[in-house]
Amino acid sequence: MRWWQLETDNILQKLESTNDGLSEEFARRKLREVGANELEEKKRKTQVEIFFNQFKDFMIVVLLVAAVIAGVAGDLTDTIIIAVIVVLNAVVGFVQENKAEKAMEALKKISALQAHVRRDGKLITLPSSELVPGDIIELEAGNVVPADIRVLEAHSLKVNESALTGESVPAEKTQKSLMQEELALGDRANMAFKSTLITNGRAKGIVVATGMGTEIGAIAKMLQQQDETTPLQRRMADFGRKLSYLVILICILFFAVGYLMKEEPLNLLLTSISLAVAAIPEALPALITVALAAGAKRLVRKNALIRKLSAVETLGSVTFICSDKTGTLTLNKMKVVRSQSYRTGLINDLDALECCIALNHDIKRSHERKLIGDPTEIALIEYFIEKSSDNNLAQLQNQLPRIAELPFDSERKLMTTVHRLDNRFLITCKGAIESITNILADRRDANLMLAQADDMAKEGMRVLAYGYKIVSIMPDPFTIEAVETDLVFAGLVGMIDPPREEVKVAIAECKTAGITTVMITGDHPATASAIAKELGILSHGDMVVTGKELQSMSDDEFQKDVEKIRVYARVSPEQKLKIVKALQAKGHFVSMTGDGVNDAPSLKASDIGVAMGITGTDVSKESSDMILLDDNFATIVKAVKEGRHIYDNIRKFVKYIMTCNSAEILTMFLAPILGLPIPLLPIHILWINLVTDGLPGLALGSERAEEDIMRRRPRKSSESLFSDGIGVHIAWVGFLMAVVTLGTEAWAIQQEMPHWQTMVFTVLSISQLGHVMGIRSDRRSLFRLGLFSNKPLLGAVVLTLLLQLGVVYLPFANKIFRTQPLTLSELAICILISLVVLIGVEIEKGIKRS
Ligand code: ADP
Ligand code: MG
Repeated sequence: MRWWQLETDNILQKLESTNDGLSEEFARRKLREVGANELEEKKRKTQVEIFFNQFKDFMIVVLLVAAVIAGVAGDLTDTIIIAVIVVLNAVVGFVQENKAEKAMEALKKISALQAHVRRDGKLITLPSSELVPGDIIELEAGNVVPADIRVLEAHSLKVNESALTGESVPAEKTQKSLMQEELALGDRANMAFKSTLITNGRAKGIVVATGMGTEIGAIAKMLQQQDETTPLQRRMADFGRKLSYLVILICILFFAVGYLMKEEPLNLLLTSISLAVAAIPEALPALITVALAAGAKRLVRKNALIRKLSAVETLGSVTFICSDKTGTLTLNKMKVVRSQSYRTGLINDLDALECCIALNHDIKRSHERKLIGDPTEIALIEYFIEKSSDNNLAQLQNQLPRIAELPFDSERKLMTTVHRLDNRFLITCKGAIESITNILADRRDANLMLAQADDMAKEGMRVLAYGYKIVSIMPDPFTIEAVETDLVFAGLVGMIDPPREEVKVAIAECKTAGITTVMITGDHPATASAIAKELGILSHGDMVVTGKELQSMSDDEFQKDVEKIRVYARVSPEQKLKIVKALQAKGHFVSMTGDGVNDAPSLKASDIGVAMGITGTDVSKESSDMILLDDNFATIVKAVKEGRHIYDNIRKFVKYIMTCNSAEILTMFLAPILGLPIPLLPIHILWINLVTDGLPGLALGSERAEEDIMRRRPRKSSESLFSDGIGVHIAWVGFLMAVVTLGTEAWAIQQEMPHWQTMVFTVLSISQLGHVMGIRSDRRSLFRLGLFSNKPLLGAVVLTLLLQLGVVYLPFANKIFRTQPLTLSELAICILISLVVLIGVEIEKGIKRS
């Protein structure tokens, strides 16, 4: 359909729509008919697929084959039990992975984009996915176009279509119909396409195509999601691969040694394969995902919505947080506290400043007559109503209808409106002090005002200046240069925006955590500095830099000072990119906040891009790694803390699993070399792998944050998971566990105890439980932590202990596991020997502390 050729009436008719939009009922029917307005993504794994994936692991297949061979050759119970344990393993893996997928999907839902739609004559907000052809929607700068639309009304509308056409210069759009029969996508000037970005102005349009029917849908395959694995997962998977080679090598050696010692080959084969299955940490990458996804879920409750899982993992590495001022560090509850008018009696009884305030804004009224729009402008209107009246506001707006405008942008820091005044035109302009002084007709006005404005800014006020002029012909062409010039000065308004209380605490916390907070704002340097001082961002010796100064600095000069600068004032969003790059060049890990369209590049370039959930534009959200649902700086700090906590827990988990695995390998491998019989049966190994390692390992994820978590330096993002003594710990505690286990075996055999194997099995199991209790904290002793401070873990340990006792004492389990009930003294000996590992770990922590 050549939508660009049609006139509005014709389009409405074709799509069975009206100026009031579709009816709810029609829209619902249509939605069922054409489907959701979504691009088909790469297919998600179904639950069945997830389940069967658990068996894909090469070693598991080998184990099952070996079990079948062993079963056919001899004892079928072995085969059945191994099969049961493998299935159990798969079930656990399945539950975990399924949980992670669900959590990620839920997060995606919360972050879905919204659209403003006219239905039954009312303007409502809907998830974009529910749009259907015929819907009339309203769009403004910062929106991502949610479907293919034909523009019905355009005001200074510009759209960046690079996603579709590759053209990076925004295209201007109009509502006029175009006559051409054939038009390339880029030339369809009265259409806007799904997934393109509105960079300027606002528009009304009618949806003509949705979902896969859109232009972007036609090429959606090219947009398929990129790899979603995090750096840590990739490193872990890589490490796991290398480790498996080593484990397999050891198992082959084990088999060879056993064979030479005349062990029964089939049984030996089963033992060595079980060992390989147990020692290869194949589930580690999946478990890391689970930990990260669980963390992301906790973060949503703290108002931080994670868009990329990798952010959870890297949050803890942040060294610089660059934050917007307005709304993030402050409450965005603006209130005008001072005004200064310079021209009396313009229209009715109102002076020029009052007229300008009443006319120059984009505030709308909701159904309940609440003011909606930019908080700065709401404050101005509230001030007008307070000083004058609601009636005067309405009257003035009716009397001087707006016929044109130049919307505010943070580059010019100006906004202009044009109104019909009888047969002439009133042009009003408001903006930053310097922006207005630059365009005044009279220099004396400018000087007068600068002195006054400076005083207000030093008190921490946000200052806006107003200018106006009356002309008899509309400037033509209607450009910034032609309109915003030769103004008469109308007056000044000073408003306060109180800092958020909780931010002070958060900034202090950042300091102890080795994180520097930096304020970036479009506001005046005096205003910014006053607030930065109050918040504790700026102290003696720190630097304040303005956008202009920044522009004149070379990259080298800037890099020299970048670590000393705490406040950037009057900067444009483009300059944020320069700040991010300079900090990164200095080796910093940077988090940057942003809400506007122009913030997208710096959000993408930063290590953690943070968008605002309330005031943020779609474009900024799409470019971010994390969205603050409450726009609050303190939430970033909470997220950093949570990020460090999650990473800590992952490290503890890896520490636990890897130590256990190395103990198992060493025990099995060293025994024949030391002339001892093979200590454990395949079932014992698989049991330890599934139950003893599994249950407490998972519960480690509930461990509370270490006390000093916000008193340590940030971790380097490139740092290995095994740094900071973890590698050493795995080696020596693994060895200690093996020594304890083999010691028990040697001693029990020497004492001619018939239950030696059950004792070895029990000692290895219980040592691991002692170990997990010991590594709950990296430094604090278990006595300080208290047994009850991680109840899930205590529960898991007690449960595992009971299961172990069941395996030892229940007659049917004795048959399956080939165990024998231990006498009381044997059990006591086992428990005492097992405590050696816990004591060892406590000594290690003691040495670390001192
Ligand atoms: P920030 O969000 O960092 O406080 P902005 O870019 O929003 O900074 O604003 C920068 C300056 O632009 C403000 O100090 C003010 O002078 C001016 N300004 C802000 N909002 C408006 C507006 N709606 N219309 C005109 N000028 C504005
Ligand atoms: Mg702002």
